[in-house]
Amino acid sequence: MKRALITGITGQDGAYLADFLLKKGYKVYGTFRRVSTPNFWRLQYLNIFDKIELISVDLLDSFSIIESIKISRPNEIYNLAAQSFVGASFEQPIASGEITGLGVTKILEAIRNIAPDVRFYQASSSEIFGDNTFSEQSETTHFNPSSPYAAAKLYAHNMVKIYRNGYGLYACNGILFNHESPLRGLEFVTRKITNSVAKIRLGLENNLELGNLDSRRDWGYAPEYVEAMWLMLQQDKPDDYVIATNETHSIKEFLNIAFDFIGLNWENYISVNEKFIRPVDVRHLKGNYTKSSENLGWKPNIHFKDLVEIMVKSDLERWIKWQKGEHFAWDAWNYPNEKRILSRKLKLER
Ligand code: NAP
Repeated sequence: MKRALITGITGQDGAYLADFLLKKGYKVYGTFRRVSTPNFWRLQYLNIFDKIELISVDLLDSFSIIESIKISRPNEIYNLAAQSFVGASFEQPIASGEITGLGVTKILEAIRNIAPDVRFYQASSSEIFGDNTFSEQSETTHFNPSSPYAAAKLYAHNMVKIYRNGYGLYACNGILFNHESPLRGLEFVTRKITNSVAKIRLGLENNLELGNLDSRRDWGYAPEYVEAMWLMLQQDKPDDYVIATNETHSIKEFLNIAFDFIGLNWENYISVNEKFIRPVDVRHLKGNYTKSSENLGWKPNIHFKDLVEIMVKSDLERWIKWQKGEHFAWDAWNYPNEKRILSRKLKLER
């Protein structure tokens, strides 16, 4: 039986990847952070919590990483743990660098020293292309990170290449473009919208504040993207791959479909709040996944409209169930109204 170690198993991708690997017959070990209230709702939501071996690891702590490898003796390691939110990286640039960037070097060093035959997947990101002017981005496009998050991811991306070329590790960067699902964190704009749309439909909310509505992203469906991670580790040689849909859509388009689904006009409910505008923004992303399609045989099946509708439908169903008094593993019921969360002023006024 193959053994996999997933860091960040409590996150969106960690939960879907664990589910995917369990179905493939893997023994799955997952790392979680020791926090005051553990956050296992996604694993419970997918009914896999009892099938996973959990190990407490913080990427800030090298020894916890080494211990987790010794305990799990994995064939494959998937590093999904990160401070993963671009907005928060402007507020906590140092922690973001230490976790999302240097944390990866700690894992690579651990692998090089105690498990050099392990196959390693690094969750790289389309954010490393930054505010670029290319009509689409592939593995060979120039990187121009525009946030502390993206800079940390690019550092990690380069370290993976250095350890692959320098020490012969089987290590891959998955340059994943945005991927969403009903398990997406509530601070991310897609889920923020679909959760609010559901609440607006049920009369629980009447306004949503957002940042730049003209930003364009390439959005795919997370359960399909975790399969690509696994495929990267099943090849003869390690390499880096773009995973995307090759479509680009704006936040306004997302709002259109989401509000259409509940029969309302988004313009009556959305306002722009400066606090969500970033000091430097990424205006446009559209991924070219030709290499993944040719080498991995991977392609997306769920496209933009379906993705938005899956998310709105799911949030609506969960709020309705909640209103009926049904209790289940879920994040939205106790998520604070963001109007109560003070933001450090992101852009300095001169
Ligand atoms: P996510 O839901 O935010 O999950 C991030 C995970 O990292 C959580 O399990 C979190 O644990 C863990 N983590 C945070 N800080 C940590 C630390 N110091 N030590 C150990 N674990 C820590 O992110 P996701 O959407 O699943 O994304 C998975 C990975 O892919 C991330 O690296 C992300 O940056 C990258 N990525 C995501 C996308 C996307 O569109 N989703 C696109 C490109 C790349 P807690 O639960 O304790 O917070």
